[in-house]
Amino acid sequence: MKKTIIFSIVSLFYTSLLLAQKTKEDVLKKLDTKNEIYTDIAQNIWNYAEMGYQEEQSSALLQKTLKQEGFSIKKGVAGIPTAFIAEYGSGTPVIAILGEYDALPGLSQKATPKKESLGKDAGHACGHHLFGTASTAAAIAVKDWMKSNAQKGTIRFYGCPAEEGGSGKVYMVREGLFNDVDVALHWHPGNHNAASAGAALANKSAKFRFYGVSAHAAASPEKGCSALDGVESMNAMVNMMREHIPQEARIHYVITDGGKAPNVVPDFAEVYYYVRHNKRDVVINLFERLTKAAEGAALGTGTTMDYEMIGGTHELLPNLSLQKVMHANLTTVGGFTYTPEEQLFADEITRTLGLQKTAMQKVTAVAPYATEAKAFGSTDVGDVSFAVPTAGLSTATWVPGTAAHSWQAVAAGGTSIGYKGMMTAAKTLTLTAIDIFKNPALIMEAKAELEEKRGKDFKYIPLLGDRKPALNYRN
Ligand SMILES: [Zn+2]
Repeated sequence: MKKTIIFSIVSLFYTSLLLAQKTKEDVLKKLDTKNEIYTDIAQNIWNYAEMGYQEEQSSALLQKTLKQEGFSIKKGVAGIPTAFIAEYGSGTPVIAILGEYDALPGLSQKATPKKESLGKDAGHACGHHLFGTASTAAAIAVKDWMKSNAQKGTIRFYGCPAEEGGSGKVYMVREGLFNDVDVALHWHPGNHNAASAGAALANKSAKFRFYGVSAHAAASPEKGCSALDGVESMNAMVNMMREHIPQEARIHYVITDGGKAPNVVPDFAEVYYYVRHNKRDVVINLFERLTKAAEGAALGTGTTMDYEMIGGTHELLPNLSLQKVMHANLTTVGGFTYTPEEQLFADEITRTLGLQKTAMQKVTAVAPYATEAKAFGSTDVGDVSFAVPTAGLSTATWVPGTAAHSWQAVAAGGTSIGYKGMMTAAKTLTLTAIDIFKNPALIMEAKAELEEKRGKDFKYIPLLGDRKPALNYRN
């Protein structure tokens, strides 16, 4: 009896310590106690492996988690069923933490260090299951801190679908959902721990569709007109164009429909293109040249052509005022180590990458701060970064040397290696949000920086135009 009472008092004392949330240490300790809960959530989303705009279970799980913690939920925002905003608190400042949860088609993989499909249509090859979960964990940790310190203001989690090619956030920005936000924070899975002022390329993507006439390819070819000829002619022209575009530009395509059988002249063919560069004006120009090539291809092959814009994102505008605070907090949180089992797993992955030794310092340490980190991907966070001051980080959720969008990324993301990286991100986002809440001058500084960088005459024009969300782009 006595023992129980003492135990209760001790545990009450311990709980109240956790509830106290006075110092950064208190906040981090509390997050550590929730490790299993968030690992579980991320594991579930990794298993669901839902593609862009189809993330029903993943979105519902994060909504449920946030609702249980006292957040109010607005779902189906910006005309997207799997997009949502979860909010706690009231008034200003308003801090947004972005979360993603879409998987990539065709990259199903078990959590093993050799290439083995899980038999699904998609896999989390960009680690967005970790992204959504860490950001949820951070939003909840910030809420706990606000509650414990009677902090005024609002913490919001933005549930952002279809980052991979679907440009989900662009519709949310276009809808004005960030209009009252002071600062936005995000992160991304990666193979090192860094909070440098990273860049990302502006991007436009479209599906070009060619229409011809089908006929027996051997018996009456003269009666046919091949839609595939249209696609191939367009590709030939674009491939020649590569010699005469800016060095840093990127153009890539896949033929999503090239006909069904060699003995039938295809009356329909489709090619899906991406164009990228670190300046959106260059992307707009290159995309125009692409459409000219498509028109020329149709003219020359006697086909007809139309195209559908699929995605379009701004380049990323780093905010140095916020970014240095993010870096300081990542340094406080620090890197992490592998258990012997994790090390074995990592070394096997490293061998599949054709490397000799796992570069462990990328996991255990934090990369030095750089004000201009190069990156060649694109992200719809770009559009958010033009709307509000935005800062981010990446953590070592993958074995160093792993490329995003690879089976090795899916594999590590489904193990404790990924979950350790995830919690490192959750902690850093939490501490950074707290610093921003406590320092209104920092918000002013970040806003002034944004205004200066985007220029006085800046007007937001979404690169994907006025189209409705491409909800079926993965169908
Ligand atoms: Zn990604």
